[in-house]
Amino acid sequence: MPPVENDLKKRIKQLIDSNQVMVFSKSYCPYCLQVKDIFKELQVEYNALELDLMEDGKNYQETLLEMTGQKSVPNVFINKTHVGGCDKTMQARKDGSLQQLLNGAGETYDYDLIVLGGGSGGLACSKEAATLGKKVMVLDYVVPTPKGTSWGLGGTCVNVGCIPKKLMHQTALLGVAMKDARKFGWEFDESVKHNWETMKTAVNDHIGSLNWGYRVALRDKKVEYGNAFAEFIEPHKVKAVCRQGKETIYTADKFVLATGERPRYLGVPGDKEYCITSDDLFSLPYCPGKTLVIGASYVALECGGFLAGLGLDVTIMVRSILLRGFDQEMANRAGEYMQDHGVKFLHKRVPTSIEELEAGSPGRLKVTAKATEGDDIIEGEYNTVLIAVGRDACTEKIGLDVVGVKVNPKNGKIPVTDEEQTNVPYIYAIGDILEDKWELTPVAIQAGKLLARRLFGGSKVKCDYVNVPTTVFTPLEYGACGLSEDRAVAIYGGDNLEVYHSLFWPLEFTLPQRDNNKCFAKIICNKLDGDRVIGFHYLGPNAGEVTQGFSAAMKCGVTKEQLDGTIGIHPTCAEIFTTLEVTKSSGGSIAQAGC
Ligand code: FAD
Ligand code: NAP
Repeated sequence: MPPVENDLKKRIKQLIDSNQVMVFSKSYCPYCLQVKDIFKELQVEYNALELDLMEDGKNYQETLLEMTGQKSVPNVFINKTHVGGCDKTMQARKDGSLQQLLNGAGETYDYDLIVLGGGSGGLACSKEAATLGKKVMVLDYVVPTPKGTSWGLGGTCVNVGCIPKKLMHQTALLGVAMKDARKFGWEFDESVKHNWETMKTAVNDHIGSLNWGYRVALRDKKVEYGNAFAEFIEPHKVKAVCRQGKETIYTADKFVLATGERPRYLGVPGDKEYCITSDDLFSLPYCPGKTLVIGASYVALECGGFLAGLGLDVTIMVRSILLRGFDQEMANRAGEYMQDHGVKFLHKRVPTSIEELEAGSPGRLKVTAKATEGDDIIEGEYNTVLIAVGRDACTEKIGLDVVGVKVNPKNGKIPVTDEEQTNVPYIYAIGDILEDKWELTPVAIQAGKLLARRLFGGSKVKCDYVNVPTTVFTPLEYGACGLSEDRAVAIYGGDNLEVYHSLFWPLEFTLPQRDNNKCFAKIICNKLDGDRVIGFHYLGPNAGEVTQGFSAAMKCGVTKEQLDGTIGIHPTCAEIFTTLEVTKSSGGSIAQAGC
């Protein structure tokens, strides 16, 4: 019995300490409603624990009696001070002491806001809060990879994500353009080769300039920046540890968690010793050579795609399907294009061990893999193994248990309200660490900016996570917005949908006579809602540019009729969406006959 009591006391203390206003309440009690209304009126956040809805609610009341001498509800605490029940709270409001207690909070903290993580979301949020006149600190720290790779301010996107990935994808596209160029009359006799080091240096120099730009922007906006690992040690209090191990304590009224994710490893022998992840790839000092990519989602297909585009021998090991969650018809077409252009796929395989055959830069590795169905074992030799099997949220070592923030134990993700608030009212979370949200830079930025405006600028605008456009930068790029066909069928039923689709041949592919009828356009329309477009899918050049515009139209609720009434821009790839005629249900031919 005593340990349970102690645990409960600890839990109650934690609730009192971590909430500016804590109300122990009962859902049906009119006095409790009265005090909650006071805080609503004052527009003050409060946390109400409804004891009648909890199995151990009675134990809470007993423990509160022991702690405060009061068993009845409501039992109100403001800034760790016990106020009492309904009468006492009303009285405190009348005599002004309630406001004094509420005001007391802000003054005692070092900052109005501390943001944990200086990536896409954290930087956007901190800069916006500072613009709104708040005292803000952002703490950012990169834990080196098992290979020792580290980088500067700005988070995943700028250092080891979108930016280097897109630049290396562009490098690969230039290789294709060079081949095409001869057909357009360009003459160059010398053999064309690619120099990894030159590309890597140019890309990393650009990243260095962006890192510097972010630091200057923080300084200009008067956001304090600490290059230190942050961890909660008490409610409203973090410990920041810098690279040299020096510890500093900071307090704040509010916190935003924006710590992002890091690549997951396989948990098989040799993975951390001999393999790399995307965190290492973009600054790899040597050309990776013959490469095995493990995984089949965004990161795997994009990295495998550009490595093959540089002329490397690339194999992709797929556990189940390509691009889980995306429209499978589109995903398979993107994969087929890669295969047609030299990428090898090992389907339904998972690695069981990686051994070093020869050290070097790159060395030689032996990979053993088993079939996902059956007992078949295969072995292969590669210079580099790139693991791209997903990413883990950085929520484990930041003291969330100390302050009571709920984390999904299955995936480390943080559930939040539609205002990005965690279960602890003064702690918010944005970006990749959120449960069931998109893991994309513009989403993290939008959520961070809007959160700061709501917290400090009186705004009510929330981040809209619906119809988020995205592009997979595979060799033939795939842009999408809204539902996949599979998902749309599951939600609305196939009979209620009309799918329009067409292959197309970009004009710029015609002279080089390449890739005819490989590009593909598809929209999914909801017949029950005036043929509104609920899914947009494009496989072709410049997919990001094309998809961005159509996503704006989807946000405005575009219908098939409106697309048909839109005049195309000729000759472009995007114009195909203004002339889609063939429905999937008709079974009509979708091959493009001509311009
Ligand atoms: P991050 O940008 O990851 O920032 C988190 C920061 O917090 C990091 O700097 C981290 O080191 C730091 N940190 C963690 N813990 C602590 C701590 N305790 N104390 C202090 N600092 C801490 N998205 C797109 O939209 N388009 C793309 O083309 C694209 N390509 C991608 C390619 C790759 C290879 C990868 C891996 C991702 C890509 N993404 C892309 C996803 C995009 O990078 C992320 O969605 C985005 O960076 C998430 O932002 P964030 O603020 O949540 O986290
Ligand atoms: P992901 O989307 O979580 O996909 C993980 C992949 O690894 C899946 O193909 C999965 O296969 C496979 N896998 C998982 N465990 C495995 C194992 N033990 N053995 C073999 N294969 C395994 O991860 P991600 O590609 O790292 O992307 C993370 C996020 O970053 C994405 O959600 C995306 O939002 C963002 N991102 C965006 C872009 C962009 O915008 N262009 C680019 C890159 C990343 P199963 O399908 O079988 O589970």
